[in-house]
Amino acid sequence: MARRTKKAKKPLTEQVKRKNRLLVLLILSALVAAALLARVAYIQFVMGEELRKSAYRQQNNGRILSPTRGNIYDRTGNELAVSVAVDNVTVSPVVIKNTSNDPAEIAEKLSQMLGFKVEDILRLLVKDSEFEIIARKIDRVKGDEIRKWIDNDHISGVYVVSDTKRYYPNNELAAHILGFTGADNQGLFGIEAAMESYLKGMPGKVITEVDKNGTELPFAVKTEIKADDGLNLVLTIDRNLQRIAEEVLAKGVEENKAAGGGTAIIADSRTGEILAMASYPSYNLNEPRINPVGYEASEWDGYSEEATDLLSKTRWRNESLSKTYEPGSTFKAVIAAMALEMGVVDLDDIVDDYPVEVQGHTIYCWAKQYPHGEETFREAIYNSCNPVFVKVSQDIGIDRFYEYVDLFGFMDKTGIEIPGEENSLFHSEPMEIDMAVASFGQRFTITPLQLVSAYNALANGGYLMKPYLVKEIIDDEGNIIERFEPEVVRQVISEETSDLIREVLEGVVSEGTGKNAFVPGYRVAGKTGTSETTEEDVYTASFCGFAPADNPLITVLVILDDPRGDSVYGGVIAAPLMGEIVEKSLEYLQVPRKGDEDYYEVQALVPDITGYTMAEAVSALKDSNLEYVIRGDANGEDVAVVYQNPTAGELVSEKSVIYLYKNLPEEKPFVSMPDLRNMTIGEVKNALAGLGLNIRIDGSGICTGQEYSSGTKIEQGTVVEVKFRYLDTVQ
Ligand SMILES: [Zn+2]
Repeated sequence: MARRTKKAKKPLTEQVKRKNRLLVLLILSALVAAALLARVAYIQFVMGEELRKSAYRQQNNGRILSPTRGNIYDRTGNELAVSVAVDNVTVSPVVIKNTSNDPAEIAEKLSQMLGFKVEDILRLLVKDSEFEIIARKIDRVKGDEIRKWIDNDHISGVYVVSDTKRYYPNNELAAHILGFTGADNQGLFGIEAAMESYLKGMPGKVITEVDKNGTELPFAVKTEIKADDGLNLVLTIDRNLQRIAEEVLAKGVEENKAAGGGTAIIADSRTGEILAMASYPSYNLNEPRINPVGYEASEWDGYSEEATDLLSKTRWRNESLSKTYEPGSTFKAVIAAMALEMGVVDLDDIVDDYPVEVQGHTIYCWAKQYPHGEETFREAIYNSCNPVFVKVSQDIGIDRFYEYVDLFGFMDKTGIEIPGEENSLFHSEPMEIDMAVASFGQRFTITPLQLVSAYNALANGGYLMKPYLVKEIIDDEGNIIERFEPEVVRQVISEETSDLIREVLEGVVSEGTGKNAFVPGYRVAGKTGTSETTEEDVYTASFCGFAPADNPLITVLVILDDPRGDSVYGGVIAAPLMGEIVEKSLEYLQVPRKGDEDYYEVQALVPDITGYTMAEAVSALKDSNLEYVIRGDANGEDVAVVYQNPTAGELVSEKSVIYLYKNLPEEKPFVSMPDLRNMTIGEVKNALAGLGLNIRIDGSGICTGQEYSSGTKIEQGTVVEVKFRYLDTVQ
């Protein structure tokens, strides 16, 4: 296939050029605002730490008892962020000076236990100050060792203060949702920052009587005000669904060489709960400040202002809500819904995709050479014909058009908990041409989360739900302190319109431009999107939809930013990713498949049959619905299987052929991989079966890729993954 087939550019009149300049100005001022925000963030996050340190110094004379920061769990109770007990080692040089202990001896001992240089410690011990930090967040085991020494050797002026350290057991999982904490356990990003007041708890204090030199008096009365630990959060996300979204997205970005990365969201269509939200590339929450690709570790200071600024704009940014993009044709589902709701058109009305002129611009169907001509509105949605949407939007009228865009939530931030949410950018005084191009999703930008919210409304009977991430706040005994319920913002369209949209968007996947999102046995509904960004030759490929179409449980959006692989089209590269997320998610949610039995491959696990007699092996394979070929020349009833291919534990399609060997062949039977490109599924199946190879089918349509390149020698019985895609309807 031709690489990056470029759409013909339409000539722009002066009027539109001026509009574009305005848009550029708007974007520029947004950038300036973003830079200011980054500066504020720097002062808050980095300098704030310094300010907190000095406060800590003053307070520690009364010895603070740190509260334990609350844990964060997913909706099924899996730990996402926990607090691990650690210790800080502090000293009071003035106290040490007034005791008989020798600072050099103390330094020597601490150096042994902590592994720091003696002279570094000694330098702090002899300072003329009341308080110095020797070590932060050391292992509790080490801390206890030092505690024992202080007690046994009656050391004054050295303190081990218990503290906690944030730990993220799943490393990069849900990084952009969770965010992370600073050195003083304060939330800096994401949910950690948003829910700070619940998570942080209240510090306690030990008040000890001291003499005028600050030395604890013998038999002094200690008063302890216990720390009040933070509360725990239960999020709406599901760790397994989050993992599915992240893995499929990562594969999609890599395979399609998406230079700008990608975004994937899974939401509960009915409630607006976010089940998964992924940006790629991601980062390890336990090491958020390590050097990014392209920066040497030795020359990288992750705490500098420049680094903080860079990371905030790149690796740490939650693209689902902090990055805006042109939605392209995914927006047509919204326009279709408002048109049906207002009754300006019915699904069975005859329309046409002949070019339409608006303010001096001629707008063509993407299939310009072979227009679809007269068709029903339903077919125009399947075919994604731009002129039809332009004409429908003209019938809606500019005021009602933007009123509905607003009702669908596109003019407001969603109000999700995470800080840093961006808002959409529309022309403030739109003209006919602005509405015309907006009807197919161009020349305005929205956030991925805004689109998902609108699709939830399309799917769930018309209700715009406020998306949210925090489900419950619980204490350590699991008692619910606060529960957050689904919130209806407003009903945008009627149940009847929602029914129609569900049905027609399912048709897009079964009949139209969304075929590559088809999942056998699950009813998937959705719309493709391909949009050119303001940068020339840079595209955004996306797919948004929901499933099961007749009773939507999940809404899924996948975006690939600046794909530079074989194709730039949402229908070719984003649709299969959405389909894969839907398939894996519904399987995980134990939604039974219906119909299409002939369509999908039932999977079977290859049993371990080595050591079995031939009769036992054959019976085990039959039980697993697998075929077999026996190789080797040993005879007798008790001849056992010495080798098998595919090996035990591999997941294969039912009826796959397992090769059994009575004795180890001197040379394993290798065959040469054929070139399968452009073959149909049936043709590929025949070609591979003829060679004694098994197949794993990915997608449907025409073969566009194979696991082993042609000419590669592979062993008979090997399972070969083959990719199929529809390339005829791509826009
Ligand atoms: Zn058309």
